[in-house]
Amino acid sequence: MNHSLPEYHSDRTVTPDDYQPYIGKDGVDRLKRLADPVAGKSWASLSSTFEGGGVAEMLHSVIPLVRSMGIEASWAVIEGPQEFFQVTKKFHNLLQGVTQPITLEEIFGEYLGTIEANAKRANIAADMIIVHDPQPIGLTASGTFFGNVLWRCHIDTSAPDRALWRFVLPYINQCAGAIFTQPEFVGAGLNVPIYQITPCIDPLVDKNQLYNDRQALGTLDALFSEHGVDPERPILAAVSRYDIHKNQGTILEAFRRLRQERTYRQPPYLIFLGNTAPDDPEGEGMLASLREQAGDDPDVRFWVNVPDNDRVVGALMHVARSFIHVPTREGFGLVVTEALWQGTPVVGSKVGGVIKQVVDGKTGYLADSGDVEAIASLMARVLDDPQEADALGKGGREHVRRNFLLPELVSRYLSLLDYYSGVSDTLPHFRLDSVSHNEIAQALRRSHPHIPTPLVDGDLTRLRDIRSAAAAD
Ligand code: UDP
Repeated sequence: MNHSLPEYHSDRTVTPDDYQPYIGKDGVDRLKRLADPVAGKSWASLSSTFEGGGVAEMLHSVIPLVRSMGIEASWAVIEGPQEFFQVTKKFHNLLQGVTQPITLEEIFGEYLGTIEANAKRANIAADMIIVHDPQPIGLTASGTFFGNVLWRCHIDTSAPDRALWRFVLPYINQCAGAIFTQPEFVGAGLNVPIYQITPCIDPLVDKNQLYNDRQALGTLDALFSEHGVDPERPILAAVSRYDIHKNQGTILEAFRRLRQERTYRQPPYLIFLGNTAPDDPEGEGMLASLREQAGDDPDVRFWVNVPDNDRVVGALMHVARSFIHVPTREGFGLVVTEALWQGTPVVGSKVGGVIKQVVDGKTGYLADSGDVEAIASLMARVLDDPQEADALGKGGREHVRRNFLLPELVSRYLSLLDYYSGVSDTLPHFRLDSVSHNEIAQALRRSHPHIPTPLVDGDLTRLRDIRSAAAAD
């Protein structure tokens, strides 16, 4: 019986040079310079799913790239019954400030019970261990990790449910550091070094290939026929999981308002493209209520878990006149990055990572996430002025090229690996808290006596032996 956690395998080969068309030779050289000193060091990631959502999306790209630079990168996922993911979904919601009942049985029975079962299979030894999001956070205190553990938070914990925050805080505070997407997302009470890493997209994957109209329409042809979509009519697209924060109901309402107020010779479609993620059990219910809200609206389409997902996502974003994303909370919103990369202007809401990407009047337009009237009139604005929409699209693409492409994200992780594996004591420049280097070093020595001492090879080998013995058991 295999007792270790499921591990990610990939045959994808990619090198820093493949990114040269996007980041130039200087960008490639910079990446190599950062990777050289940490070649041979190990970096493990732990998350809750290999498929679905932004974390998985990024790790699929990060792992092959850093492996090509000699880093021992691995990625494992925790496992649990559906009830566990129902509880962790509540964690996700509560930490982002949604009021929702949660019972002690759910926390101490379902959550910690499943964490305990995973801990038995999670001997992870690496110079740097990145634990993604709240789902696996309980494992950080399980004693089964050997190395410098950092919690990577992809959500906005600035106004969390206080009781749950108190529950997770001790787990975070015994890590060697925490990584947030934006300074504003950091919840109160952290006393570990805090870093900022912004999510990024990979220009080399199918989804982010730059389509031309012919290729995009070709990719969508079968879906257009199946769902009766006339390619001559403009499309407003919305892509995401079905989740309360994604606020798809408001998009639907705004689309209704738009057509009440205007008549179009070529009326627009609203196409929702979405998938359901195994660690997100609320998705099906959300989708059902959205369908009910749409009723028999002849201009609304739902494409769910489509075949050839990645090409379809890129192609739909390319052909759309505008991409609509108005969440009430959003850690970052890779879908916005992807749409901008395809040269499509985004109507977004003034929250979280969306604001960083949608520069009002330059890459798209911003409205409040609950302002149906404003969202409807911004939809009208992009539909009515295709030239302006084009200019916004070009601005969006350049904004992404400068700020949100994968090599930037990888560079930051490499700097962390450099620091935490003890190769250098250069403090990563993207540290958010303003403690001086000495203070950090002292704090780290107190709570993590092994930092910044690198792991010795013998230790790693020993732990690997224990793991393989467990796996063979
Ligand atoms: N996605 C997809 N197919 C879908 C819906 C979403 O491939 O039907 C992808 C989307 O392209 C993006 C990721 O899932 O890469 C969602 O990331 P984001 O940061 O927008 O949201 P999250 O789901 O992490 O909250």
